[in-house]
Amino acid sequence: MYANIIPLTRLPLSRPQIYTYELGDLAKEIKIGQLVEIPLYYRSLPGIVVKITAEAPAGIEFKQVNKIIDQHPLVGQREIKLVEFVSEYYYASPGLILKQLAPEPPKKRIKKVEEALVKINLSVIAGGTSINIGEREESCDNSVHTVKKNGDIKLIINTPTPRRQEYLKIISQALQNKKQALFLVPELSLIPQTQEWLEKHFFNEEIVLLHGGLSKTDAYINWRRAQSGGAKIFLGTRHAVLTPFCNLGSIIVDEEQNLSYKQWDMNPRYDARTVAGEKARLYGCDLIFGATAPSVGAYFTSPLPASLREALQASPTPGPLLSKEKGGDIHFVQALLFRKEENKTESTPPLTKEGARGVIIDMRDELRKGNYSIFSEKLQISITEILREKRQAMLFVNRRGSSTFVMCRDCGHIMRCPNCHNALMEHTGRTLSCNRCSYKAASPLTCPKCRSPRIKGFGTGVEKVEQEAKNLFPGARTSRLDIGNAPRLKELRQKYEEFSAGKIDILIGTQTALPLSSPNLSLIAAVNIDSILNFPDWRTDEKSWQMLNQLCRRDDINNCIIQTYNQENRLLRLLARNNLDEFYQQELKNRQALKYPPYIKMIKLICKSDDYNYLQKESAAMADKLRKGLPDAEIIGPVKPVNEKIRNFWQRNIIIKLTESQKNDMLKQILVNLSNAWSIDVDPLT
Ligand SMILES: [Zn+2]
Ligand SMILES: [Zn+2]
Repeated sequence: MYANIIPLTRLPLSRPQIYTYELGDLAKEIKIGQLVEIPLYYRSLPGIVVKITAEAPAGIEFKQVNKIIDQHPLVGQREIKLVEFVSEYYYASPGLILKQLAPEPPKKRIKKVEEALVKINLSVIAGGTSINIGEREESCDNSVHTVKKNGDIKLIINTPTPRRQEYLKIISQALQNKKQALFLVPELSLIPQTQEWLEKHFFNEEIVLLHGGLSKTDAYINWRRAQSGGAKIFLGTRHAVLTPFCNLGSIIVDEEQNLSYKQWDMNPRYDARTVAGEKARLYGCDLIFGATAPSVGAYFTSPLPASLREALQASPTPGPLLSKEKGGDIHFVQALLFRKEENKTESTPPLTKEGARGVIIDMRDELRKGNYSIFSEKLQISITEILREKRQAMLFVNRRGSSTFVMCRDCGHIMRCPNCHNALMEHTGRTLSCNRCSYKAASPLTCPKCRSPRIKGFGTGVEKVEQEAKNLFPGARTSRLDIGNAPRLKELRQKYEEFSAGKIDILIGTQTALPLSSPNLSLIAAVNIDSILNFPDWRTDEKSWQMLNQLCRRDDINNCIIQTYNQENRLLRLLARNNLDEFYQQELKNRQALKYPPYIKMIKLICKSDDYNYLQKESAAMADKLRKGLPDAEIIGPVKPVNEKIRNFWQRNIIIKLTESQKNDMLKQILVNLSNAWSIDVDPLT
């Protein structure tokens, strides 16, 4: 007997990825999906059995499997198929994907694991191998489905509260059918409030977490509970989509538009939304995408129901737009973003709380009347009111740090990271840091180039806004939430609890904070929206549109203030017209004309080297090879990325634009034979 085995390691794509071994005495115990130890290239490695055969090619001497590490299969046929899909779609080593999908049993704290597993009537690990003590796993539905159950993704476009109502129905339905439900959120910061909400509605069920921040022991226990049917409701971030389940009834992808669903900075560079599509197909389960303003891709692939489209087209908000108004002694330009309509149909997504107002402030007017603060008068007055009425405000700032860059006013010198060539941001304690690597330094007193003392920070980051809020509202309790200062779930949970308990008056945060809610939250303000609107990238309009909608299309606030120096911006105008459909129609037209997804496929090849000459030669040669090998595809580059040097490695990108039918064997042959200097990013973010 022989077994085909995938070693749990990343192998170069040019090498075979599946190896055949002889089973010998292990033949009677071997099962598909088992974790075994195999000899490979003078090493011993763990591997997963993907196929068992009686025959093997004659004339070859096969090595023997060393031992079975875990008697109980770690993965089933569906996961093996899912790994095949991810590996082919993303040109990634299947061993690397399996490694993320199937954790090895922990070697420490085995007692804790045993206790947890016994509680749910599951296998016990004994000396590294597990003994099955329950029948539960045998009751799992292991069938592999080949067609989509309901054809497509169900797309829910709505504000958070009604969206959640829909989700509750879907999860209840899965539980009624004795199936499991997987709820995905894009960022760790969303776990605490989502968990609280799920626990409130499903108080008989434990909400099991699946995310990258768990300890090895907890990750293994929770993984086993998914795989064995030992729990019903799972809440996780993107990598939870790889987890094997016993009998999955539905996958919900909330905040579907969020780009954090894509793993862009390491291999395998998969998108959890794409993988969820394939997983739903293999499991024959429902797939639900939800967003306030969905991604262009989801909008394109799952057309709106006709009723919703008609409603959206029929009711672009009439009435005064961006008309000048005078109120007391303050001047501001006001756009009635949200007007309650007389004959609003039910399918139109509701906007903010009844009578709510969105305001777009022209910051040039503020300068003209002598207000040089980053807080417009309207914003200052609104916050004062909120503090008096003991309600809460959230200030959204797109950038971390205090200043986004430090520049000499005499010679124009910009302080850059020596490892990344990236502009350094400045923090409130007069220190500099790089957002690409761990480089830190003190702020310079004089310009290192011309010795001028006129060197200072420019651009507004979240720390500067926090500082200014403290100065303007000395009695208020302010708090800051950005990825930089609260990366762990424990701190995120604490911050959320303080916020929802009303212990924070003004929360200042980056995108991480934006989806947070609190019963007393009344105002959201975007302090400097222009840094988002003006970013030079083909996806900018989509990202900005989603962010603008996340800011003010919410049912949990009364007011929204957007500060801008560019009131003529097309997206702000569209927002004021409150016509969701119009944006997507325009954006799709642009994408089609300029050949961008979803009309074509993009693959980005990233070449990295510490040798600048090699980098230039290698990337130019590769672009040549691609142009010759794929005459019908569009090859762009080699392109110098915005940050040319990251952690002392220089970088060049090549973009391949092609249609689905041009994804041929020639392309595959070139890609799998790329040298170690290259990474492949299918469906890249930029
Ligand atoms: Zn200078
Ligand atoms: Zn750096």
